[in-house]
Amino acid sequence: MDVTCFGAAGEVTGSCHLVDTGRHRIVLDCGLFQGSRDDERRNEMPLPFDPRHVDAVVLSHGHLDHSGRLPVLLRHGYRGPIYCHPATIDLLRVLLRDAAHLEAADVERENRRRQRRGERAARPLFEIADVDAVLRHTRPLVFDDPREILPGVRVALRRAGHILGAASVVLDDLAGASRRRLVYSGDLGPDGTSLLPDPEPPQDADLVLMESTYGDRNHRSRADTLAEIGDVLDAAWADGGNLLVPSFAIGRAQELLMLLAQHRRDWRLDRWRIFLDSPMAIESTAIYSDHEALFHAGARSFIAGRQLHELLPNVHETADTEQSMRLNDIRGGALIIAGSGMCNGGRIMHHLKHNLWRDRCHVMIIGYQSAGTLGRKLVDGSDYVRIYGDEIKVAAHIHTVGGLSAHAGQDELARWYGAIAGRPPVALVHGEQRGRDGLADRLQRDFGVRASAPSFGDTLPV
Ligand code: ZN
Repeated sequence: MDVTCFGAAGEVTGSCHLVDTGRHRIVLDCGLFQGSRDDERRNEMPLPFDPRHVDAVVLSHGHLDHSGRLPVLLRHGYRGPIYCHPATIDLLRVLLRDAAHLEAADVERENRRRQRRGERAARPLFEIADVDAVLRHTRPLVFDDPREILPGVRVALRRAGHILGAASVVLDDLAGASRRRLVYSGDLGPDGTSLLPDPEPPQDADLVLMESTYGDRNHRSRADTLAEIGDVLDAAWADGGNLLVPSFAIGRAQELLMLLAQHRRDWRLDRWRIFLDSPMAIESTAIYSDHEALFHAGARSFIAGRQLHELLPNVHETADTEQSMRLNDIRGGALIIAGSGMCNGGRIMHHLKHNLWRDRCHVMIIGYQSAGTLGRKLVDGSDYVRIYGDEIKVAAHIHTVGGLSAHAGQDELARWYGAIAGRPPVALVHGEQRGRDGLADRLQRDFGVRASAPSFGDTLPV
């Protein structure tokens, strides 16, 4: 058996790995490249393998950088099953449909431009029909329930603690003289989050394909992070402006809402008007509620059957565009949670445009900002940014709260790997250069293993 990395090799998006057992070909994740325009253009290139010759797909979790090219896979002839956790299926429905609508809008805009120039019309990367095809091909697989998905190929999902339904994939090739096991970490969550249990490492492996997003650093401790959020809230309130929180609609938004509910008193949240300004985050929050059984015991007992509006009475869910646009008139006292998480689209763009130039405004960044995104520019301290063609001065206060990441930090990654018996060979994916280098050094120091760092198209034996 071997595995070839066709994405997230030296970067954090476009996850896609092709496993070849000699008899079967299995794709692990098929995600979109995200970030700059150039990154996004890579999605339009033909897939580096023939989808008609793939026998099965296993999906670690719903995020688009892992799932967003599944519709492309089906459009180009894939007809087999897509195994993933049932919660992932629910999230895919929301995420992929939204992506198809955004794609349609983008292409429409692009085609108006092309028409004026007398150029040929572009075709969207995928459409709703392709998304529906993906959904029809999904097959639910719960955690820790090994299943022979193809003759001689057994797959089990382990809790990865990253977002609802997120899994590490344990793939066994049983056909040879001895069993060979590939473990793909998927995206690993940090320990001690407000909703999900900690990631559970697999027992053993012959090769570990491991994420390294934060391989070079640790997040701030939970206690410090909570204190930091409290300070940001106080500073923002004292300045009298709005507080903008760019947030991934799935995962970060729900973690944050849970924290706000738990700290409603100490953070004096009742004085704020809180807006969950993202139709996708609103839908995802409902899906999280449907799968409350996946939360850890602490979260379940805190919620105790209550709904969001009982936990946080002053949260307003603004699903309509008009409701959202009215938020532009609010000068202060609004805490607005909106997507996209990396400020490369979505409603947060409008809120940033209307608020960034005000020095009373505060922005709290709570997730990873990949290179090339507007979010990264804000984190890096740009004085001016461009939003929908306008140059905007950044007068707002930008806070980066690292401790709320959906990804494990270096210590947690090392612990996860260290719990796997026998110190198996490890290949680092899903990380930029410094994340991979940092984790490679750490694994060498702690366990004496030399981690490899595959490039796009590299094949590794299992
Ligand atoms: Zn993810």
